[in-house]
Amino acid sequence: LLEQEVQLHRLRNAPEGTENALSMAFNPHYGSENILGQGIDVRGLPKVARESLKLVKALGQGAFGEVYQGLYLHCNSPEEMPVAVKTLPEMSTGQAEADFLMEAAIMAKFSHPNIVHLIGVCFDRHPRFIVLELLAGGDLKNFLRESRPRPERATALTMQDLLQSSLDVCRGCRYLEGSPVHTQVLPVQELLQSSLDVCRGCRYLEARRFIHRDIAARNCLLTSRGPGRAVKIADFGMARDIYRADYYKKGGKAMLPIKWMPPEAYIDGLFTCKTDVWSFGVLMWEVFSLGVMPYTGCSNREVMEMVSGGGRLEKPFGCPQEVYRLMCECWNPSPAARPSFTAMQERLQRFMQDPEILSAPIPVVRSLLPPADVH
Ligand code: ADP
Repeated sequence: LLEQEVQLHRLRNAPEGTENALSMAFNPHYGSENILGQGIDVRGLPKVARESLKLVKALGQGAFGEVYQGLYLHCNSPEEMPVAVKTLPEMSTGQAEADFLMEAAIMAKFSHPNIVHLIGVCFDRHPRFIVLELLAGGDLKNFLRESRPRPERATALTMQDLLQSSLDVCRGCRYLEGSPVHTQVLPVQELLQSSLDVCRGCRYLEARRFIHRDIAARNCLLTSRGPGRAVKIADFGMARDIYRADYYKKGGKAMLPIKWMPPEAYIDGLFTCKTDVWSFGVLMWEVFSLGVMPYTGCSNREVMEMVSGGGRLEKPFGCPQEVYRLMCECWNPSPAARPSFTAMQERLQRFMQDPEILSAPIPVVRSLLPPADVH
């Protein structure tokens, strides 16, 4: 593990555009059966028979290939089980194939209700498949954004529609101003519940000393959108990429989730479980601002300067003070002073019993933000 951190340190300190430092950081353990002693076993992965899978429809595009919704008929059950199937295109490089398998191997290590469950892999022929439990509710960030109290927006792209939708939103906002009942689209209790779900998943990872490195609303998926939904940590792409020499070159310099990272990570290359605690604070901020991009309008460089100088995200509009205080504790400059996920789970559970917090009006986002944020 120490070696991994040293490599990271070297990566972070490499001047921009230094290709040499990146290739020097090649990890000699990559591809071995039991990577870095973390018990990541790529051969012992559960197998799924190709014939028992039916692909139903496309769900989206992943880093490697298309992700499909599918049905899985397993031998000891007459019921077909809804699944998500990640595919690796036939033309992929050996490196992509190894990365793809690595992600499955990481997920295979975990079994927790707030972490996506790996059903198995299908690596006998092309296209390669990773079969996961289906999380039908989409990602947390979009869910939050789509749950914002506002009228329906027009989808056609004419100027008239744009003006009309602005007018609709204007009317809606005017209405919302005078209508507290209508703003209760997503009660505070549900916001707390999503934070608690992710916290439970993080607590489990913390206990196994696993550093996720990319806790953010976009990387959590929902089992469904309706009542009784659960949020699960679903993307282990960053933890996977850490085994690569060039993991943050993909798609340019902007691949590191700077806005979710604590200063010691981008200054000293130091990653610990307390890295995830900081990110979790940012995720809570995303949740209580209903999916606003943290530090909206600031570049990564500006955020790094601001945050290492002591600046922090402001309290989301309408967010209860105690909830904001918990976020701020996650952003303590000293990693050791940040709370553990165990302590945070207790705090969140207490908040969910507190009538004063539960009766707080839901935060209303009045501005029209662009539909998609990237980091
Ligand atoms: P990336 O590889 O870029 O991190 P993913 O492969 O995780 O992206 O996901 C690509 C798309 O597939 C996303 O739209 C995501 O919501 C969807 N997806 C991924 N895993 C699941 C799942 N278990 N259930 C439902 N949808 C999923």
